[in-house]
Amino acid sequence: MAAQQTERDWVFDTRELVRRPGSMREVSRAVTTQEPMGTDVIAIPTDRPVQVELRLESVVEGILVTGSAQASAEGECVHCLDPVVEPLDVPFQELFVYPERAAHHQKVAGRAGGDKEAPADEDEQRMLDGDLMDLEEVIRDAVVTALPFQPACQDDCPGLCSECGVQLAKDPEHHHDVIDPRWSALAAMATPTADDEKRI
Ligand SMILES: [Zn+2]
Ligand SMILES: [Zn+2]
Repeated sequence: MAAQQTERDWVFDTRELVRRPGSMREVSRAVTTQEPMGTDVIAIPTDRPVQVELRLESVVEGILVTGSAQASAEGECVHCLDPVVEPLDVPFQELFVYPERAAHHQKVAGRAGGDKEAPADEDEQRMLDGDLMDLEEVIRDAVVTALPFQPACQDDCPGLCSECGVQLAKDPEHHHDVIDPRWSALAAMATPTADDEKRI
């Protein structure tokens, strides 16, 4: 038998469903991330499990996949830099069209538009690769969208002391004797610097 693409990692087989509109299959698989999945500030790290639950439905245009991905994202609190672990349960839905359907769409679009530029949603259209669908990009996009822009260790993290950088959540009593800002300029002038001392 010739070598052929098979199911692996993020690639799922739809063989029993292809060209059989109305048929449906549910799949559950734990996939391991090969590279971080997320943003610069928070992501599912490499080599972590992502639990993928799928419902694959055969429709006339192709295979409609509805599912969810569960994993833990890790990052740093933007306020105090403490580690943040964000449990994720990300829903997604995507239609993978049969290649000839995609070609047909392009033809129609080309005829109507007249110019070579494809409509914006053309890039978004995903195609079946034979019987296989690769869900890595779909899940990656869903995860990135679900992650917080500014991860925080708690809703009202007080962050770091602007004077000395201490974590205020761990030291609620923390404070400095504040000089009235109107006087602080004068105080700075009055405080001898290292240079001044040398001169004296
Ligand atoms: Zn924090
Ligand atoms: Zn301080």
